[in-house]
Amino acid sequence: MNPVVAHAITTLRQGVHDARQRGLTVGFVPTMGALHEGHASLIRAARKETGFVVVSIFVNPIQFGPHEDLARYPRPFDKDVALCAEEGTDLLFAPQVETLYPQGFCTAVEVSGLQDVLEGSSRPGHFRGVATVVLKLFNLVSPDRAYFGQKDAQQVRIIQQMMRDLDVPVQVRVCPIVREADGLALSSRNVFLDEAQRKHATVLYRSLVEVRAAIERGERSASVLQRVLTERIKATPGASLDYAALVDADSLQPIDPLRGQVLIALAVKFGATRLIDNLLIQVP
Ligand code: AMP
Repeated sequence: MNPVVAHAITTLRQGVHDARQRGLTVGFVPTMGALHEGHASLIRAARKETGFVVVSIFVNPIQFGPHEDLARYPRPFDKDVALCAEEGTDLLFAPQVETLYPQGFCTAVEVSGLQDVLEGSSRPGHFRGVATVVLKLFNLVSPDRAYFGQKDAQQVRIIQQMMRDLDVPVQVRVCPIVREADGLALSSRNVFLDEAQRKHATVLYRSLVEVRAAIERGERSASVLQRVLTERIKATPGASLDYAALVDADSLQPIDPLRGQVLIALAVKFGATRLIDNLLIQVP
């Protein structure tokens, strides 16, 4: 069945209110659209655990830098509605930019420190935009649970911190990264890769797996492993390394030698298309 499509806040609130009147718990999956199997896995998790599933599609302008791909970000709305319907979405919230950011909007959420490293150092202001829109969406939807992908590991860490610091009463669920058969993490941006770039893009996952294997064999030097990542990317035609990092999964700060929960994170550009991937490892 097609979901109810709400463009207006009043329609969204009424839909959630009616579901609550019926005693249903509310699950929420925030997205920027161009939905794929990764998003579908989040909707499925929400479907399994909650009685009323809300998906939002909003390409959030304030999380894009001035030279980023806001204008060309894919927006296949009808296809997205079909995927939402297939996965059993009850309500699809698809607001206009002016609906979330009316004239005079001037508040922002900052998660200092965590927001400034990795993606944050390559994309200044990105996580201010993410935290701000996520808190707004939580206030609008007021879900019991919200579902995020491990694909955006730093985003998950920042949202969890924001929830804790601001006492936001939503349970955050983190779902595993969905990959193509050859390991490439699904992303709405993969459609921009040409045939050669698509082929070479598997280097992200391949080099992450190589580094994981080295850790399992006993390697503990972050600098040695970072060099492995860097060399693999440098040796790949068309790839340009943005960053390769091994950080403490909690603080997101570099850790050397490796111990505890470690996040290995990569950002690589193929032409104008920027891809990210990561692995989370408990160092034995
Ligand atoms: P986006 O539409 O890119 O903002 O992503 C919306 C949500 O889907 C975020 O929580 C992402 O982490 C998650 N997501 C995106 N790609 C994947 C993937 N390949 N596997 C799992 N979750 C994903």
